[in-house]
Amino acid sequence: MTYSHTQIAQYLRCPRSYRYRYLDGWREKETRPALLFGRCFEQALGAYFRREDCAVALFNEWAKYQEPQLEYSHGDSWERMFRQGVQLLERLAQHNRVEISHPSQNLQIKLVRPLAKGNDFVAYLDAIGKLDGSRCLLEWKTTTSRYPEEPNGLLALDPQLMCYSWISGISEVAIVAFVRKRFCDIQYLKTTITDQQREEFGRLVEATVSQIEGGQFLPHSGIRFPQNGCTSCPQLGLCLGNQQLIESKLVRRPGASDLDWLDHLMD
Ligand code: SF4
Repeated sequence: MTYSHTQIAQYLRCPRSYRYRYLDGWREKETRPALLFGRCFEQALGAYFRREDCAVALFNEWAKYQEPQLEYSHGDSWERMFRQGVQLLERLAQHNRVEISHPSQNLQIKLVRPLAKGNDFVAYLDAIGKLDGSRCLLEWKTTTSRYPEEPNGLLALDPQLMCYSWISGISEVAIVAFVRKRFCDIQYLKTTITDQQREEFGRLVEATVSQIEGGQFLPHSGIRFPQNGCTSCPQLGLCLGNQQLIESKLVRRPGASDLDWLDHLMD
């Protein structure tokens, strides 16, 4: 069995939701423009670092999703998101703080780490390069809200960064957050993951995998106000037995876990 950060994170959020997704094959319908745009923007970033025309790359990718069924929110539209994407690519070039040498080797890097009992853990790092001249592991994010920068050190607790640091052995990590707001902005956020954090993350992975393989899928409903994870859970309809909600949000594709490599784009 091959595990990924998304799988571990989903199990830790709610084991029942993990079962729905990975054992029963219920997947969320791809109607969220922000998610699709994020994938297109990553392709455009690849073009930027290969010194190709990244605005054209963004247009070509994003043009695949000119579909009326996409559910835009917060005043977004296909055109507005495209304009914001171009603006962010221009900002990236103006700031000129990120360097990726040999983009064919240092973008979208697949790493596999063996786990106990013949299992594997796979991760796709967005990039290894330099931020302000220092070598680090880089993770791209497109978002409509700025990442919190206070209190100091908060970023070192990011589980995805911890995971990528664990699998790569690289302690210097950074998030480059492309913030789509009225005034688009880029945040360059760096942190260091310690040996102890990496070691603990490895233990967390092994413990989680052993619970999954032990068939423990009790729901963690998190129903307490106001942090109610169930309200944003795509599988809420399954837990409530609400057919209308199931049909609006989910599609069942048993055996689709071979597409898990796409998951890293959702994080
Ligand atoms: S609705 Fe709540 S209990 Fe049900 S799968 Fe989602 S998070 Fe878990």
